[in-house]
Amino acid sequence: MSRKITLIPGDGIGPEVALAAKRCIDATGVKIEWVEVIAGEGALKTCGELLPENVLESIRKNKVALKGPIVTPIGGGFRSVNVAIRHALDLYACVRPAKSYTGVKSRYQDIDLVIIRENSEDLYAGIEFEEGKPETKSLIEQIQKTSKKAIRPDSGISIKPISRFASERIIKFAFDYALKNNRKKVTVVTKANIMKFTDGLFLKTARDVAKGYEGKVIFEEALVDNMCMQLVQKPHNFDVLALPNLYGDILSDLCAGLIGGLGIAPGANIGDGMAVFEAVHGSAPKYTGLNKVNPTAMILSGVLMLRYIGETKAAEQLENAVKEVIAAGEFVTYDFKANRDDPSAAGTKEMADAIIKKLK
Ligand code: NAD
Repeated sequence: MSRKITLIPGDGIGPEVALAAKRCIDATGVKIEWVEVIAGEGALKTCGELLPENVLESIRKNKVALKGPIVTPIGGGFRSVNVAIRHALDLYACVRPAKSYTGVKSRYQDIDLVIIRENSEDLYAGIEFEEGKPETKSLIEQIQKTSKKAIRPDSGISIKPISRFASERIIKFAFDYALKNNRKKVTVVTKANIMKFTDGLFLKTARDVAKGYEGKVIFEEALVDNMCMQLVQKPHNFDVLALPNLYGDILSDLCAGLIGGLGIAPGANIGDGMAVFEAVHGSAPKYTGLNKVNPTAMILSGVLMLRYIGETKAAEQLENAVKEVIAAGEFVTYDFKANRDDPSAAGTKEMADAIIKKLK
């Protein structure tokens, strides 16, 4: 019997990489009935909404989705569809493995890190007050009155809520992930020395949760600025990193850089009984429709999805096929080549074809 999975192709390069991933997943032989729904620019054109309710309904019903990247214009009143999906479905844990593959040119080899990013709170909560608006002025007055600190009247304000509840569930998720995946250490990354009541609460909660895992998983603390330096200097010292939302987003890209770039960094957004799988990268608009970008991040997101639905063998086969194609270096996209203008670089489709061939 086949199982239904929601497919959201996304914007920009999204449809190309989503199709490549879908074809590779189907080639493993796992029976999936894909239910395609449109969010992002396509949905805005056809039904006037970036995130139509039927998209959320489909994910709620099928419990699992594979999603291409969706554009978020910078500034203005436009909220990220990606963040909105995570919030609407309470997909509170973002899991982003950063793993080296032989054949990818990179400054480092043998990196095997996992970022666990809190997905529901922090500066990504979407609570923002625009410069000059009456409600912003009244908020500024209120803050000045209670905090006795000055805020310039022409300020915009973003609120950073961090709760004990959300901190506890993400830290537990990180430790349970470590236990389940044979990982030795969880490093909790904050700026608790400066933001005592938000990052401080995250860290305090982490210390409490960590006591329950003593003797099973090592607990370590780090400050985010120092962590950036340590990751660049000695990335092999780290295993699982657990972070509040904003630092998790930034360090995910840093870790993608350690393993050879965004073309190879997969991700998952997981809640209670529901999950959406997507690459770390965005919609790379300048490459839209060129059959040029790397499908690996999206295919490896598919590998994470197969593991999540219990198709461990198919996941392993697909990851091995990806590994083999990358190691051979023949049918790989431009970003895997020493010279980015190398005319022998494969297209998105051709790289997926080579991976599918390895599965047969
Ligand atoms: P981006 O990740 O789309 O692209 C940045 C650069 O990374 C590209 O120009 C390209 O050089 C490289 N790159 C990205 N994906 C690649 C791939 N598969 N293969 C090879 N190279 C690749 O980041 P951006 O330009 O900052 O964002 C573009 C849009 O995507 C924005 O609107 C942003 O908000 C959105 N975005 C969406 C998601 C998501 O859907 N989850 C995530 C990040 C960004």
